[in-house]
Amino acid sequence: MDFRDSPDEAAFRERLRGWLTEQKGKFPTSGDEYWAAQGDWHQALYGAGFFGTSWPKEYGGQDLPPVYDVIVDEEIAKAGAPARPSLGYLVVAFGHHGSKEMQQRFLPGMINGTERWCQGFSEPGAGSDLASLTTTATREGDEYVIHGHKIWTSYSDVADWCLLLARTDKDVPKHRGISAFIVSMHQPGIEQRPLKMISGVTKEFGQVAFDGARVPADQMVGAPGDGWKIAMTVVSHEREPSTLGFSARYGKLVRQLASRADGATPEELSWAWVQTEMLRLHVRRRLSEQLDGITHGPQGSLDKLLMTWVEQSVGHAALATVGTTDPELFGAYMYSRAQSVMGGTSQIQKNIIASRILGLGV
Ligand SMILES: Cc1cc2nc3c(=O)[nH]c(=O)nc-3n(C[C@H](O)[C@H](O)[C@H](O)COP(=O)(O)OP(=O)(O)OC[C@H]3O[C@@H](n4cnc5c(N)ncnc54)[C@H](O)[C@@H]3O)c2cc1C
Repeated sequence: MDFRDSPDEAAFRERLRGWLTEQKGKFPTSGDEYWAAQGDWHQALYGAGFFGTSWPKEYGGQDLPPVYDVIVDEEIAKAGAPARPSLGYLVVAFGHHGSKEMQQRFLPGMINGTERWCQGFSEPGAGSDLASLTTTATREGDEYVIHGHKIWTSYSDVADWCLLLARTDKDVPKHRGISAFIVSMHQPGIEQRPLKMISGVTKEFGQVAFDGARVPADQMVGAPGDGWKIAMTVVSHEREPSTLGFSARYGKLVRQLASRADGATPEELSWAWVQTEMLRLHVRRRLSEQLDGITHGPQGSLDKLLMTWVEQSVGHAALATVGTTDPELFGAYMYSRAQSVMGGTSQIQKNIIASRILGLGV
């Protein structure tokens, strides 16, 4: 495959570069300030035609090939602009499992950033073993009433809507008794409890207690008991680095570190460079496969594992090169620790690779 820009792609890249230059300094790139301004950044990107480019026109996207997302990520990283918010997994979940009415009602706001979303899956006793979740949704007339406790819910404090997993049937095997709902976060019966990350960030995620919150029955996504299937669509798309667009950001960090290396290059930095380049090429190959209509299923676990190794190598390189002296680069090291946990831990990815790709009896 020829990875050079086509004339249209080159024109898009040029326009984006110009726009990013104009935005320089307007939006924070790290810490609580980044999270607080993320919604404005999303809307600015969308308004200028650089967000949701590969999503359907019908819902506010541009129906462009996924290579345009990669261009956006590459140029954002080069410009040192804030990362592109990652929502692709939600868009895909709605595309696969939502009714037409649901898609028409919720996808445009999700894509243009006027409605913010969070993902209420994990609980204090159900992370890797998500099927053990205990939050309940009990039918009362035309509504379901929610009781339970979610944790590590990214963007919960700014979200308008939550894609929530809750148990609707206790009498069937645990995977089959879960349903998915679109729950309004602006109602009584929902309490937010902030969490502080090791990096000091307090705005990225929180705990959410549901005590009698209500959701109309027609805001169930799919049928009763479809929750597990929907969750699997979400997590398998969360695991793709091309969707998350992280590889360009790692490359930028490595270049930043190389410019800071004083004399001899630490071995960790050389290794991070090799790994980052390997991930960049891997993402390109995945993209080329995507363009050929190949879907990856459990292969997403390989991507997630690879991405974790690379991010943590870059984190180690940051520590070896500048130690704790630069808050932003030290923050990159701290954040890299979360990568092997979020979206399914590395051990769980290895279990999936062993059982579903290698066919080993795990
Ligand atoms: C930055 C960040 C953002 C997040 N955002 C969200 C979000 O928006 N919404 C949401 O719902 N969740 C979110 N999460 C939660 C995340 O999905 C869970 O933390 C993750 O699935 C692990 O669950 P846990 O923390 O309960 O750990 P546990 O499942 O308790 O795991 C503890 C340890 O045991 C290991 N382990 C568990 N089971 C097995 C097994 N079968 N085989 C081998 N090892 C095993 C794990 O690998 C891990 O090392 C986020 C997490 C982070 C770090």
